[in-house]
Amino acid sequence: MPREIPVTDGFPPSERTRVRRLPDRGLYERAEIYPIIDAALTCTVAYVIDGAPYATPTAHWRDGDRIYWHGSAASRFLRSVVGGEICISVHLADGIVLARSGFDSSMNYRSATLFGVCEEITGDEKVQQLDAFVEKLAPGRSKELRRSHDQELKATTMLGMDIREASAKVRDGGIGDHPDDAQERVWAGVVAIETRLTALNPDSDTPVLVDPSPELRALIGKKL
Ligand SMILES: Cc1cc2nc3c(=O)[nH]c(=O)nc-3n(C[C@H](O)[C@H](O)[C@H](O)COP(=O)(O)OP(=O)(O)OC[C@H]3O[C@@H](n4cnc5c(N)ncnc54)[C@H](O)[C@@H]3O)c2cc1C
Repeated sequence: MPREIPVTDGFPPSERTRVRRLPDRGLYERAEIYPIIDAALTCTVAYVIDGAPYATPTAHWRDGDRIYWHGSAASRFLRSVVGGEICISVHLADGIVLARSGFDSSMNYRSATLFGVCEEITGDEKVQQLDAFVEKLAPGRSKELRRSHDQELKATTMLGMDIREASAKVRDGGIGDHPDDAQERVWAGVVAIETRLTALNPDSDTPVLVDPSPELRALIGKKL
């Protein structure tokens, strides 16, 4: 039987967010879901236009219960989803789980599925959230950058979705072989996957006028 742990500060599972397949891997607290959203640099937004499904990858960031993304004002994707119900999926792959059979092999991962209604973000919130996005990618950098020009703001559409329903699913740990396979003479274990920020490669086209800030240097080695 799946465990029924009350959700204290999160998203009590709804009909569509209750993790049914391997329910013990399902998580519903903000403290469990939000670190996954924040660790990932990108998500996939799924939506329907004229009855046809689409799924579009994009960079994202989060502030409170709202997840944001942005792009060109000319983007069909961004224009089409405003006001509509969408589903956002985020995942990070942490390992390839090599069991002693193909059937029992798996992956370690952290993932989140979020539902809500998409809205366009404008005005002060848009300006502030552009800084928040920069800060997610490179803490401290919004203070170093010039302000966005009005034309740049106009050319940018920002969208947000208040997270109304959410689930996370996490697999970590080792292999789950069938007992009959214990004697198979094949290596078994987990191939670890890491996504890290690895280097500050200077721009080769234009002269670099300053050294990277200490905050930028500190990013090197950061694991997602
Ligand atoms: C990197 C990665 C690799 C995966 N590889 C495989 C694979 O090869 N084969 C496979 O069958 N599954 C794989 N999964 C798991 C997959 O995402 C689904 O959980 C699984 O297929 C069950 O789907 P379902 O619709 O039957 O789940 P159900 O439990 O019926 O889904 C019900 C609800 O649970 C929630 N939920 C389900 N899955 C997730 C999730 N991953 N994250 C957050 N919420 C979730 C959603 O709200 C969903 O609407 C992988 C996941 C990740 C992140």
